[in-house]
Amino acid sequence: MKIHIITLFPNMFEPVLNTSMLLKAQQLKLVEYKLVNLRDFGIGKHKTVDDVPYGGGAGMVLKPEPVFEAVEMIRKTDKHSKVVMMSPRGRQYNQRLATKLSQEDGLIILCGHYEGFDERINDIVDYEISIGDYVLTGGEIPAMVLADSVTRLIPGVLGDDQSNKDESFSSGILEYPQYTRPETYKDKKVPEVLRSGDHAAISKWRKENALVKTKSNRPDLIDF
Ligand code: SAM
Repeated sequence: MKIHIITLFPNMFEPVLNTSMLLKAQQLKLVEYKLVNLRDFGIGKHKTVDDVPYGGGAGMVLKPEPVFEAVEMIRKTDKHSKVVMMSPRGRQYNQRLATKLSQEDGLIILCGHYEGFDERINDIVDYEISIGDYVLTGGEIPAMVLADSVTRLIPGVLGDDQSNKDESFSSGILEYPQYTRPETYKDKKVPEVLRSGDHAAISKWRKENALVKTKSNRPDLIDF
């Protein structure tokens, strides 16, 4: 899968995309990240990408032409990629949406800045997505969240030992509590059952404790 990211700050992505699982996914040729500098599509001598808002008000708005041209350039070779606009006004991101995006042919992620995008850019947008009800300075961190969550769902990226089938949200609830060595730490013991070797009992304990955790931290995920 190709993930194109259109941004005014491509340097922000280097350490994130070239570390750990995202680096491994590239090395395995399961994903290719392409950073596109929006400034390259800016207008005139100063490569302008923004302008004042019609109707007045604070801040600057990203002009439509550079974004349209950047997307058109990518679409010449990646016709079927879906355009994702990062925006606090978008639909709320979740694991279900991440799974859907991971099944697309490719993605073109638009990172906003300043006051955001000229509304007409929505004509070429397939998904307008928010990563939560708060406002960040730019779309770069949301784009990283999206690239990371989508990449780890591409078949082959996680090894069997790190399969995401038990992970939080994959079955609709949170994952069960996990423990590792030492067996006792600061007088707290790992639950006996996890050390028993009884797989049926461990599975039962995990199911029960996934529910306990979900009820406590995210009751909204459970239908009462
Ligand atoms: N004026 C906009 C508003 O009130 O809806 C906020 C613009 S924000 C300062 C600049 C850019 O950051 C947005 O265009 C978007 O790309 C990104 N951004 C900020 N918060 C975000 C969020 N919660 N989810 C996704 N993108 C976000």
